[in-house]
Amino acid sequence: MTQDPGRTIYVDGQWRPADEGATFAVTDPATGEVIGQAADGGRADTEAAIAAADRALPAWSGTTAYQRAAVLARADTLMRERRGELAALMTREQGKPLKASMNEVAYAADFLAWFAEEAKRIGGVTIPSARADQRFVTMRQPVGVVAAITPWNYPISMLTRKLAPAIAAGCTSVLKPADQTPLCAVATVQLLADAGVPAGVVNMVTTTHAAEVGDTLLESPVVRKLTFTGSTAVGKMLAAKAGATLKRVSVELGGHAPFIVFPDADPVRAAKGAALVKFLNTGQACISPNRIYVHRSIYDTFVATLEQRIAALRVGRGDHDGVSIGPLIDEPAVAKMEAQVVDARTKGARVVAGGERVQVDGLDGTTFFAPTLLADVTPEMLISREETFGPIAAVTPFEDEDEVVARANDTEYGLAAYVYTNDLSTAIRVTEKLRFGMVGVNDINPTSAAAPFGGVKASGLGREGGYEGIDEYLDTKLVGISI
Ligand code: NAP
Repeated sequence: MTQDPGRTIYVDGQWRPADEGATFAVTDPATGEVIGQAADGGRADTEAAIAAADRALPAWSGTTAYQRAAVLARADTLMRERRGELAALMTREQGKPLKASMNEVAYAADFLAWFAEEAKRIGGVTIPSARADQRFVTMRQPVGVVAAITPWNYPISMLTRKLAPAIAAGCTSVLKPADQTPLCAVATVQLLADAGVPAGVVNMVTTTHAAEVGDTLLESPVVRKLTFTGSTAVGKMLAAKAGATLKRVSVELGGHAPFIVFPDADPVRAAKGAALVKFLNTGQACISPNRIYVHRSIYDTFVATLEQRIAALRVGRGDHDGVSIGPLIDEPAVAKMEAQVVDARTKGARVVAGGERVQVDGLDGTTFFAPTLLADVTPEMLISREETFGPIAAVTPFEDEDEVVARANDTEYGLAAYVYTNDLSTAIRVTEKLRFGMVGVNDINPTSAAAPFGGVKASGLGREGGYEGIDEYLDTKLVGISI
């Protein structure tokens, strides 16, 4: 960690304050208490970070894959050693229950481990030519300086999912983390430095001036790639700006996952799965089910089981034992829950559980929202279209496969989808028809550092993790050789 509060900008291997000396407070969303200060960077800090990344590029891209792999492997080891302290920090800064923070740190380390291995597999191909006197070979080379912009909901794993492949590929980076979670980013960048990532290879600007920092990154011709995770609205805007200098772009954006339970599935098992994935990270996950479609023949059993599971969930501070629902990140998030519940109720949905803000430990003005079950949800309701990003499960009965597939696909988003069935043909047929980047079949966690994560349509471009993850950071160079 940096020793000095407010020195959270990292340029050329040095922690420093913002050029203009400004700082901003970092708060615990569970209590509203100020837990730290971060440097409030701007254009000058960002320009310095880009220049440092540019200077570091020739030497870093000239290292061997084995050297880069060794650095990442050390970072993986360090992250597992520091798992407890990183998780405690995450729970304080972002609010998720400690067990979920522990899981996230392990997931974040998985990307370091995976890309340590992938660095050694960056290879090219030989291609036959139609000319007898010619040979073709390809080389894969780092794209150059990368701008990485990340969200608050997974404040460490979203960083390693980008920085690890960038490091593995031989790129240098400028990171702009979310303003709600700069301290997790500081701890991650310090860990990379401790693992031996040289000065200038990873730089970071913490800020509340996202647009100013973002524009500086995107206008720079030195920056050759944008990697972004966050909302669809911001991602589209940034991708459009990146177009002016034709940067490579990968964007992981919002979702509106359907969760379909067919009549042959076990409704109790499906409801347990739905509860686990819906309330993960207090519903603040891009793969969170936003529309749960259950066949009418098992609808009542499913709703009753989900209601029981919700009754067993304990809301509270993430560092308290037995808590599985932490606070929402901020007040606008609570207002969004309230608006979706009021809208659904007005249009005829049943509020089976929850539906309102709750007070925890006598804390005033904080952002706890009860885990909520809405039944009989219809397509006209706001929750059927708008990403909820909070702890509301919206359930709808259906009768027919074609009808439910059409409804599931009737969204601008295309990130994750879930199918529960015991019929292999149904599983394959429906999976093929769903226009989403990832499908869980009787499975609520179709994610891993080893698997390609990403969406279609308004959920994004490109894939992170898996074999594809490193491709986003590499250009292919063709060499034609006359012999
Ligand atoms: P967000 O508001 O889009 O913010 C994401 C990042 O973009 C933050 O660092 C934010 O900075 C920055 N940003 C905002 N406006 C900007 C601008 N004009 N120029 C440059 N940067 C800008 O999203 P969020 O609320 O943090 O995250 C939630 C969203 O992320 C949800 O939609 C969720 O589905 C999505 N998400 C997707 C994935 C995925 O892999 N597909 C994973 C996790 C989350 P500030 O924080 O300083 O405003």
